[in-house]
Amino acid sequence: MTFQDMLDKNSAEPVTVAADVADVAAKDLAPLVREIDQGLYPRDVMRAFGSAGAYRTHLPAGDAADLSQTISYMARAGEQCTSTAFCMWCQNALAWYIFASDNTALKEEIGTRVATGEILGGTGLSNPMKTFFGIESMKLKARRTEGGYVVKGALPWVSNVEGDGYFGIVFEIEGAEPPHRVMAIAHASSPGVKIVEDHDFVAMGGTATVAVQFRDVLIEDGFVLADPIEPYLQRIRAGFVLMQCGMALGMVKSCIDLMHQVRGQLGHVNSYLDQQPEDFEAALADLEAEVFELAKTPFDPSMAYFRRVVTARLKGGEAAMDAAHWAMLHQGARGYVGRGAAQRRLREAYFIGIVTPATKQLKKMLAELPAE
Ligand SMILES: Cc1cc2nc3c(=O)[nH]c(=O)nc-3n(C[C@H](O)[C@H](O)[C@H](O)COP(=O)(O)OP(=O)(O)OC[C@H]3O[C@@H](n4cnc5c(N)ncnc54)[C@H](O)[C@@H]3O)c2cc1C
Repeated sequence: MTFQDMLDKNSAEPVTVAADVADVAAKDLAPLVREIDQGLYPRDVMRAFGSAGAYRTHLPAGDAADLSQTISYMARAGEQCTSTAFCMWCQNALAWYIFASDNTALKEEIGTRVATGEILGGTGLSNPMKTFFGIESMKLKARRTEGGYVVKGALPWVSNVEGDGYFGIVFEIEGAEPPHRVMAIAHASSPGVKIVEDHDFVAMGGTATVAVQFRDVLIEDGFVLADPIEPYLQRIRAGFVLMQCGMALGMVKSCIDLMHQVRGQLGHVNSYLDQQPEDFEAALADLEAEVFELAKTPFDPSMAYFRRVVTARLKGGEAAMDAAHWAMLHQGARGYVGRGAAQRRLREAYFIGIVTPATKQLKKMLAELPAE
């Protein structure tokens, strides 16, 4: 399929995509959620979401893009499993980077296969996103060579990446003053790239999260998305942050369901708890309204818009962690056993608060970004 075919398909079929995504979430994903929690990477489910169209409805055509549908698909998966919703975000972010760039060859060759889920991959942008907001320094350094850049350094976590995966990276040219940063796509099996699955998380084990080492890796000019990165970063950053709200919406919805699930048996005592499912239903409706409004204009360059996106992402993370806490208290011992959904959701919910931009970074951004 060419990129143009994909855009034509998007405008023709949004309803079908939603129905097919819901089907994959219910039939393929739901039965696997405990195994995913224990470390299974749901590769086939990720591909099935791709075949359903979950990674292509947000792709920009020129300066127009609408992230609403893709956020709702991530939310649908996230009602079952945050690991999978996050892997979908990684995939969607990779497609977003490629299609928001001017690299036509990359769109046609790799981008279309990412958008259908044939190629799976992710994004190593936590470190640069923290660097741009004054929290860390760049972990990947590069020098110019004929036809590309030679990159070295290491990223501690990149998710949704196996041996044949692609992922977005940012590197800094050694010795350049002022800093010169470039964004590109890397391949996990290029000469000099080493990926190692070496982590022991309390949740999110099924996210195919690897540490990546770059030992003098050649990134050819054909894989560069933006050089220098600055104007392009302005273009992609709101979409990067806003799409993460899909995980939060799915988590809050699932926690409301867990509270309702035990009302018949435990309502006589759960009614004394400070937070009831109706409280979260109201919060979810407000959050959805704001996120889906913002999702219509991801290329709005204004600071007022970006601040609204950061605020929605912050509220989403806080609502997810809060809802999971109260779902645990409503569920009681049912939620506290090894197979209990509430304890799994609670562990997953904290990921939404710590994945970049983490709650603390979002608060720093709101404190430091200009008002207009
Ligand atoms: C399951 C999972 C998947 C992730 N997937 C991705 C991804 O796909 N792409 C991506 O770019 N990032 C990924 N990350 C990283 C994530 O986005 C955050 O950057 C990370 O969780 C830390 O963010 P923070 O702002 O809370 O930083 P903090 O945790 O406050 O600080 C991070 C700093 O602490 C150091 N540190 C980390 N762990 C330890 C430790 N055990 N002991 C001592 N020091 C330590 C690090 O070197 C780093 O400098 C993932 C993280 C997790 C947990």
